[in-house]
Amino acid sequence: MSAPSAFRSVVRKARKSHKCCECNETITIGDQYQYSSGVWDGDPRSYKQCLRCGEIFEKLSHAGYDVCFTQLRDYLIDLDCKSQEWRVIVAEQIDVDSSAIAQLLKVEVGV
Ligand SMILES: [Zn+2]
Repeated sequence: MSAPSAFRSVVRKARKSHKCCECNETITIGDQYQYSSGVWDGDPRSYKQCLRCGEIFEKLSHAGYDVCFTQLRDYLIDLDCKSQEWRVIVAEQIDVDSSAIAQLLKVEVGV
């Protein structure tokens, strides 16, 4: 996917419930969530992420990983983050808590 134009990403407060586009968990009314919008190849789109997924996504992107919206779980699985060893390495590299990645991938911490 090429880089979007008119991209912006802001934290919003949910006025109605949404689903996180990465982990599929419910963002309930009143929760803060990451709202990102842009135009990809002429196609305007928007994505809603819970703050946990939003943080992992943003930090991966900043670290130079080419992760796409809705692909965060698959991307981390491809990086072998289901194994604790790799999860800790990736978490340290991008400066997130490895337990946040574990929660996203629904793996037990310590496995
Ligand atoms: Zn999420």
